[in-house]
Amino acid sequence: MPTETDVIIIGAGAAGLSAAKELTRTGLTYTLVEGSHRIGGRAYSEEIAPGVWFDLGCAWLVGGADNPFAAIADGLGITLCKDKGHLFETVNHRFQRNGAPLTQQQRVACLRYYDGSNTAIANAARQDRDVAISEVIDLENEYAPPLCGSIGTSWGLDVDCVSTADFVSAVGELGFPVLHGYGNLVAAWGTDVAVSLNTCVERVDWSDAGVTVDTPKGTIRGRVALCTVSTGILASGEIRFTPGLPEWKAEAISNLPMGTENKMGVCFDSDVFGTDGRGHYTTWNGNGNMAKVHACVMGLNTAAIFVGGGHGVWLEKQGQQACHDFAVDRVADIFGNDVRKHVSRSIVTAWSTEPWTRGSWACAQPGQAFQRANLARPVDERLFFAGEATVYGGQGTCHGAYQSGIRAAREIAEQLNVEQ
Ligand SMILES: Cc1cc2nc3c(=O)[nH]c(=O)nc-3n(C[C@H](O)[C@H](O)[C@H](O)COP(=O)(O)OP(=O)(O)OC[C@H]3O[C@@H](n4cnc5c(N)ncnc54)[C@H](O)[C@@H]3O)c2cc1C
Repeated sequence: MPTETDVIIIGAGAAGLSAAKELTRTGLTYTLVEGSHRIGGRAYSEEIAPGVWFDLGCAWLVGGADNPFAAIADGLGITLCKDKGHLFETVNHRFQRNGAPLTQQQRVACLRYYDGSNTAIANAARQDRDVAISEVIDLENEYAPPLCGSIGTSWGLDVDCVSTADFVSAVGELGFPVLHGYGNLVAAWGTDVAVSLNTCVERVDWSDAGVTVDTPKGTIRGRVALCTVSTGILASGEIRFTPGLPEWKAEAISNLPMGTENKMGVCFDSDVFGTDGRGHYTTWNGNGNMAKVHACVMGLNTAAIFVGGGHGVWLEKQGQQACHDFAVDRVADIFGNDVRKHVSRSIVTAWSTEPWTRGSWACAQPGQAFQRANLARPVDERLFFAGEATVYGGQGTCHGAYQSGIRAAREIAEQLNVEQ
């Protein structure tokens, strides 16, 4: 691990890795330190069955062909499921209430409510009303439970905590899944970056000239530092800044708290979905149990079950077995009780307590969408910031994190007077 460098990069997720690559292009040196034992951060795939990969974090190349990872995947010969994007479009969602699909008439009413709610949220944002989503949608509608549950899941916080402006700026179709895992794609793309793993940053000292970073493996001195850790980590105080970060930066961090989306991957020993089963479902019951389910999206005998917001955090606290049972129950809601006999394995996530992120992604509090720009702003021309939370437009995504790393590397090169 080089201990004298131009740039100390903290965190080897998509943002840290893209920053390292961009700095190399400009000729600047860097030392990239990663606290955990692997690169990729929230991009991470695990094998749920031989040859079948499940993404615990990011899974879809949001934006499809426009996503920079689409070209990277093509270059690496990694297969994207490019013909599956339509399954995620709202008009193709399948709605399942109390174990039965909505009738055509109910479905039309449900989609009308979804459309009307999205329009109300967009109108509020357009009129500069950055308020909680719960203030602009009809919460008494019979289809409010699936919509609120879906927002809580895809956003990570419940509708009374989600900013209309932030929500509207981020809307985008899910795009392409990666056959062998988005996490594996990021890991393959990042292999050429030099990273010091198991090197947790404990202190960032900017009291003197340059920046000094303390880790259990030793001290590193740099001209500047680039911090790419989540706002969950920044808010936890686990990295001690000396002197402390200025008030405007601390405010940006606290107004961009982490939301939680948890995923359960369930693998079956045979095709329990049937030929027409492939797709995206929203299932909810009178007892409040709601989840989104992606069944067999890539033609494999697996389902991904999503639950987020307050419910997701609560379920995570019940433990792994409860998450597994919940996931199998939701698949059974849709495909019948026989599926239970065919469960072969599951993987459950626990993002709200994940020690290296402390949540799934950052969400602006109502009225605070502007704080992403403050989070991205350097402090004293020495402390730079990147990561998904610093992006407005691609926030909460892997490619947004990637783009933020390039943006920060260019700011640093300009600051250090390097020709670009
Ligand atoms: C459940 C879930 C589903 C998602 N789905 C999608 C999706 O489908 N599509 C999409 O585009 N995005 C998705 N995302 C979001 C996407 O994964 C993230 O936005 C992106 O990976 C974040 O990258 P990053 O570089 O900003 O942060 P991270 O990946 O969190 O990288 C930061 C790194 O810093 C390290 N670190 C933390 N503390 C320290 C320390 N003290 N010292 C040194 N290192 C430290 C961490 O270990 C981590 O590796 C999902 C995320 C989750 C959790």
